[in-house]
Amino acid sequence: MKQIFTIKLESIPAEGLDICSEWDTRVAAEIIQQDVCGFKISSPLLLNLTFSLLAEKVIIEGNLKTSIETTCVGCLSEFIQPLDINFHYFLCPQSAAVFEAEKELQEDDMEVGYYQGGVIELQPFVREQMYLAVPQNPHCREDCLGLCPTCGTNLNKKNCRCSGATNTTDSPFKVLQQLKK
Ligand SMILES: [Zn+2]
Ligand SMILES: [Zn+2]
Repeated sequence: MKQIFTIKLESIPAEGLDICSEWDTRVAAEIIQQDVCGFKISSPLLLNLTFSLLAEKVIIEGNLKTSIETTCVGCLSEFIQPLDINFHYFLCPQSAAVFEAEKELQEDDMEVGYYQGGVIELQPFVREQMYLAVPQNPHCREDCLGLCPTCGTNLNKKNCRCSGATNTTDSPFKVLQQLKK
């Protein structure tokens, strides 16, 4: 599949334009600037986009699919998180008279963006959507058991001896009980 990064305004017909594009993993990683964002793209990035014209403005309805490799905050294991993101943008030409539109649309569930010189660049929108969709506190699974606070065993993988009876001898309550005796 062709890697598409820009759409010329003049290529959008009145009835709208559908495009599919797949960015390979390396290209997507560069665009997302994964070096600075703490996750790693682990599969090609698939884009399905519909462009519609509204006078000089452009509406993008899109879907983005990819997956990232990230670290679980519970058990510190690396895991693959699939992403399936739907988004909408309302693009204005980068010039005057856009602020009204921006205000009007703030109520709708649409992001406002800009294009310049009759060309729509897809990278900034994809980057923004990726950053919004990536979880702040990723978990490898909903019920991740995390690490044993005593011995560090990954409790998703096996039980350790200390679980259930964590630190009984050192626990302040135990010490208190013994004092009372
Ligand atoms: Zn986990
Ligand atoms: Zn343990």
